Amino acid sequence: MREIGHFIGGSRVAGRSGRFSDVYEPMTGEVTGRVALASKAEVRAAIENAAEAQPKWAATNPQRRARVMMRFLDLMAANNEELAELLAREHGKTIPDAKGDIQRGVEVVEFACGIPHLLKGEYTESAGPGIDIYSLRQPLGVVAGITPFNFPAMIPMWKFAPAIACGNAFILKPSERDPGVPMRLAELMIEAGLPAGILNVVNGDKEAVDAILDDDVIQAVGFVGSSDIAQYVYARATATGKRAQCFGGAKNHMIIMPDADMDQAVDALIGAGYGSAGERCMAVSVAVPVGHATADRLMDKLVPRVESLKIGPSTDLGADYGPLVSPQALARVKDYVEIGVTEGAKLVVDGRGFKMQGYENGFYLGGCLFDDVTPDMRIYKEEIFGPVLSVVRAKDYGEALRLPNEHEYGNGVSIYTRDGDAARDFAAKVQVGMVGINVPIPVPLAYYTFGGWKRSGFGDLNQHGPDSIRFYTKTKTVTSRWPSGVKEGAEFSIPTMQ
Ligand code: NAD
Repeated sequence: MREIGHFIGGSRVAGRSGRFSDVYEPMTGEVTGRVALASKAEVRAAIENAAEAQPKWAATNPQRRARVMMRFLDLMAANNEELAELLAREHGKTIPDAKGDIQRGVEVVEFACGIPHLLKGEYTESAGPGIDIYSLRQPLGVVAGITPFNFPAMIPMWKFAPAIACGNAFILKPSERDPGVPMRLAELMIEAGLPAGILNVVNGDKEAVDAILDDDVIQAVGFVGSSDIAQYVYARATATGKRAQCFGGAKNHMIIMPDADMDQAVDALIGAGYGSAGERCMAVSVAVPVGHATADRLMDKLVPRVESLKIGPSTDLGADYGPLVSPQALARVKDYVEIGVTEGAKLVVDGRGFKMQGYENGFYLGGCLFDDVTPDMRIYKEEIFGPVLSVVRAKDYGEALRLPNEHEYGNGVSIYTRDGDAARDFAAKVQVGMVGINVPIPVPLAYYTFGGWKRSGFGDLNQHGPDSIRFYTKTKTVTSRWPSGVKEGAEFSIPTMQ
């Protein structure tokens, strides 16, 4: 059985707390390893190690820092198959989907390769008599990222690539459920030429998270996970004066207008609702057909597609999706299906009886589809995070728009229509951070920023793109006048530009 410790000072080290958590292979249901859960003292040691290494890294010129990222990209390409298989076996998603997880992270590393340009400041010559003003961006020091199980490659890279490129040292606390890939990423960064201590990985649970949040050396915390924890991390990190950006859960709606191309809309719902077993923060979990006729046409096409979803082990290249991440996740999603039935929603497709032949102990769940879901139901209000799609019928566009607007989450949303006017009105009025127009999963590319609104995001700057450079640097503005310019003697009034 594998034992996964931590990655500190450029190499793997064993955990010393005596506490561990099981790591599953969801497709077989077997425990294949155990991961150490760091104590407060182990987190402290990792932070001290990072703090020692950081000043030299910050003083390394940005082109050289970018070259480490470039070499890391080569290593990611060379190790793609191995990483995808490790990811799929620990998480449960299929290998092609695991490659997507890796690729969306790699794209942020590519963005970070532009760091010499991204860090350029501003300069105003002769802002006053003999006075020049310039601004520069300096790294914060040691920063940390706390990441969820559902994208064990992408989200760590979203966090550490811009932070490290900016000249910070980074403490990564990945999910204890699938720590294998984050550990490999750290190893590959070192192989790419990153100095030891600039990327340390501490595995752990609440104890490690709290140790990070309370540590005075940590200057900023980036979190991704469920909303209650995101809010907790935000409150505790900012209470000790840290910068924090904390991204939470979601309930993403897809509005289907009467003029939508129904085949396209159904394809989109199937992929975005059930891909990765619904364990994506940008999964579509609510379909909102507008008008009865649209709803009936949608259901006619959707039901057979949900019934014929191909569920398989993560290594089956032909599977639509694989198992859920853990037995707890499986039980939780099944409970929600039961809650929906009790609340009076119509369970049109029930995947709870699904058994995967040859993998009877895996955490599989067949696709579930509810019709006639109403906004007062828990299955509508809460994030299920499984292969369960709810259909909420709206009588008109106004009602459809109100649904995502009044929902407590505001991560992603999409509209399917052939009417540019409706799409434009929707994009302008919807109270959600990321909007798709005939695009079901509108995850912005690396050079834009990613972030939800309302209880899907706490803090004011988004992930990756230009916001990430702002988040991981402090702006310093220098107003300078050289002695040759000082000719008029002492000045006692505040200088102005009159
Ligand atoms: P989670 O909240 O259980 O865990 C996230 C991280 O917080 C993990 O590293 C975990 O170890 C830590 N943690 C868990 N409980 C804690 C506690 N009590 N105190 C301190 N730290 C704690 O989330 P998860 O189940 O790993 O991931 C799924 C969730 O993440 C979903 O809600 C999903 O929507 C969300 N998510 C959001 C985004 C986004 O960008 N908005 C992206 C991916 C996932």
